[in-house]
Amino acid sequence: MKIGLYIHIPFCVSKCYYCDFLSFARPEMQEAYTSALINEIKNYAALLGKHYTVQSLFIGGGTPTVLPPVLLDKICMALIQHFQIAPDAEWTIEANPGTVTNDHVRIINTYPISRISLGLQSTHNSLLKSIGRCHTFEDWHRSYSLIKTNTSCDLNADIMFALPSQTYEAFQDTLKILTTYPLEHLSLYSLIIEEGTKFGRLYDVGELIGCDEHQDRQMYHHAKAYLKDKGYQQYEISNWAKTGKACRHNILYWKREPYIGLGLGAHSFFEDTRYHNEEQIEKYIQADGCLKVLQIDHEIITKAMAMQEFMFLGLRMTQGISIDAFSRQFGVDLFDIYENPLNKWIKHHVLVKNNDSLRLSDYGMDVCNEVFSSFL
Ligand code: SF4
Repeated sequence: MKIGLYIHIPFCVSKCYYCDFLSFARPEMQEAYTSALINEIKNYAALLGKHYTVQSLFIGGGTPTVLPPVLLDKICMALIQHFQIAPDAEWTIEANPGTVTNDHVRIINTYPISRISLGLQSTHNSLLKSIGRCHTFEDWHRSYSLIKTNTSCDLNADIMFALPSQTYEAFQDTLKILTTYPLEHLSLYSLIIEEGTKFGRLYDVGELIGCDEHQDRQMYHHAKAYLKDKGYQQYEISNWAKTGKACRHNILYWKREPYIGLGLGAHSFFEDTRYHNEEQIEKYIQADGCLKVLQIDHEIITKAMAMQEFMFLGLRMTQGISIDAFSRQFGVDLFDIYENPLNKWIKHHVLVKNNDSLRLSDYGMDVCNEVFSSFL
């Protein structure tokens, strides 16, 4: 059986104002965290035995390259030593500008790491500052050059739009500049103001004004047209890639294939059960890799839940879902289960049916949340 592995590194240089990920700047915890993570890696691999092969690995965060190279090396070594990894596995590591050193590059070249996702968000330094990013565009360029010159990894850049005070022209400019780089992959996310973040607090007291819906959509539509023109294929609502360069690990999530999450708060989907790890770093370190202590909130995914997930995860991809695959997987006809919403969305050109395939139209992507909730 094939599985994906996600490894969470929760450390960052500082906290971005919009970020609600499980991440923080606590360098004093890094060594103890790495040791507990390695024990979790050993224990999980022993539990799985020989019946699973890892098809994709994703070391994410946080900022994995905030770890000193020696600690990152230990984690990669433990993964290689304890898991059965397919020779053609996709292996991604996230990095942020200014945190990638020559020693990190040496480690990247020591292991079969094939992709690096380099956070950017905008090419405008004033915007980067206004959202609490701790780097400039010039830092991104230096990290990009270091990686591109010294490794054969494919590169992704994360971009954000609908940022407070971001103009349409500033967003156009970011795409224009970025597409002069031979990046294999781009991820574009609209800013969502989340509770518990600095932006969330400012918004609550009226000190932050979000971007309006019209401008948000204007930027998204521009990205779709512009990136197509530049040779990128959109394969998911927020993701674009050059031919053959779509992220296999991401696709695994949308196709509901099994994956194991290792590290603080990491989520897993395995044997029809979703669960996640302990979210407090002190408790995570104390558990020292003991799976029974670490894993919490087990939820068995019933057939009804699995059908819902099939719809709202599968429809995220531009290729959409296969109507036959639904019948084969669940033993029922898709239109018997979701007759009303499907007929409504097809009639209003929100969903497009083409033989066996059902996908969101361009307009459907704009109202995807409404579509997804109609299957719940
Ligand atoms: S670098 Fe990423 S994970 Fe870290 S605080 Fe910023 S957005 Fe969050």
